[in-house]
Amino acid sequence: MNHYKLSISEINKLFKDKKLKPSELYSEVFERAANTESIIHGHLTLFQDENIKKAADADKRYENGTELGILDGIPIAIKDNINIAGYATTCSSQMLSNYISPYDATVITKLKDEGVMFTGKTNLDEFAMGSSTENSAFGPTKNPWDPSRVPGGSSGGSAAVVSAGSAIASLGSDTGGSIRQPASFCGVVGFKPTYGTVSRFGLVAFASSLDQIGPITNNVEDSKILFNSMKGFDPFDATSGKESKTKQPKLKNAKIGIIKELMEDGISEDAKLEVQKVAKLLESQGHEIVEVSLPLTKMSISIYYLIAPAECSANLSRFDGVRYGNRVAGNTSYEMMENTRAEGFGPEVKKRILLGTYALSAGYYDAFYGQALKARAMMKKEFTETYKEVDYLISPTTPSDPFKFGEKSDNQLEMYMSDLCTIPANLVGMPAISIPTGLSSNGLPLSVQIMSPANTDNTLLEFSQKLESVVSFTSLPEIKGDVS
Ligand code: GLN
Repeated sequence: MNHYKLSISEINKLFKDKKLKPSELYSEVFERAANTESIIHGHLTLFQDENIKKAADADKRYENGTELGILDGIPIAIKDNINIAGYATTCSSQMLSNYISPYDATVITKLKDEGVMFTGKTNLDEFAMGSSTENSAFGPTKNPWDPSRVPGGSSGGSAAVVSAGSAIASLGSDTGGSIRQPASFCGVVGFKPTYGTVSRFGLVAFASSLDQIGPITNNVEDSKILFNSMKGFDPFDATSGKESKTKQPKLKNAKIGIIKELMEDGISEDAKLEVQKVAKLLESQGHEIVEVSLPLTKMSISIYYLIAPAECSANLSRFDGVRYGNRVAGNTSYEMMENTRAEGFGPEVKKRILLGTYALSAGYYDAFYGQALKARAMMKKEFTETYKEVDYLISPTTPSDPFKFGEKSDNQLEMYMSDLCTIPANLVGMPAISIPTGLSSNGLPLSVQIMSPANTDNTLLEFSQKLESVVSFTSLPEIKGDVS
């Protein structure tokens, strides 16, 4: 029997009952990786050899009955923009191809304390900028459901390895949808917590007011376990963990709003039908479904593509060959920095830096960045008002099912549109989860997204678990060319 698609609590029970050893699961997961990685390319690096002793130690803890907790001995993959001491953090960029992290991100310290074993580092769009992993400097990841299609992005590697079974769960980062969109494309669960609940210390910054680390898992319960083990205040991240007391949405007889603007133009028929199907399921669970209008969601892409590049242009200034980044020689220090940045960054990253620098430059600041901040504040207000009427909001996670390689890479606007439904949660700072619920007419995964007010993460997860229990979806694709 394969164990790589079991839930974390099922695995933990097998460990405790001595029916499975952590080292056996570990071998199974790496064997699965050996059979699938040549097709999927989800991991950039696998930590197989380094972990043999750790797996044996975990075996002993269970044998002696001294296990630490639910995550002890669980193999988890980490997006390659999160630092693990002693290992490369490349952000899928030539700029950092030689960078070895000297420290652990706070989430890594927390997971190590729980006995987690890291399978390796996963592929992403360079510096987390993209929606398909086509922007990785080390080649794209393929979608396990159909390798001619993208796995989504930017956490495409993290979603693909969970879907393929070469990790039990993974961590991703989400600035405008990078956990939820790839989770949806690969038919797994992706959860973006409330901004600030999980420390960003040790995550390479893209857009600091939007970035959030979160889990990608086979089921909602696993996301809940990982979220609760990672959340909390961290003195190294001033924005982290300050949970405020918030009125929680209802779990029974809840009122759920379908966002009208995310069921209109640009959303495929399949995606709309999926939301309607799930709405019926929710009604059968005793909830009330209403339609709500949030007109500013239509502006979210425009707002995001001013704020995110502006913050990225500031954050990425440290990659100059002096502070960070592979140095490329020049006759003067200016020329050296110019060469370093010209050679180190790929085209999408350069474009964002240019856009952001322009939006922040004197004379344009008020017209672009300043306006975007105002629109963001108005959008937050629109959501706050709506949550006075409803407990949760629901929409498709993505406008369509996974697209083919090359299909959108020449049409930037269309690529950016693939985050239409996910960006609002980052701009507002609220939690949002993507749950796979069915298949499109192409036989590919489709998901719905559920959102709730900031600081109601565990209630949202509990609510989602109830929905998941009435959805029949298998998250194990048959990988073409996979012989195991
Ligand atoms: N796809 C979006 C972008 O390219 C979001 C990326 C993310 O969430 N990291 O910016």
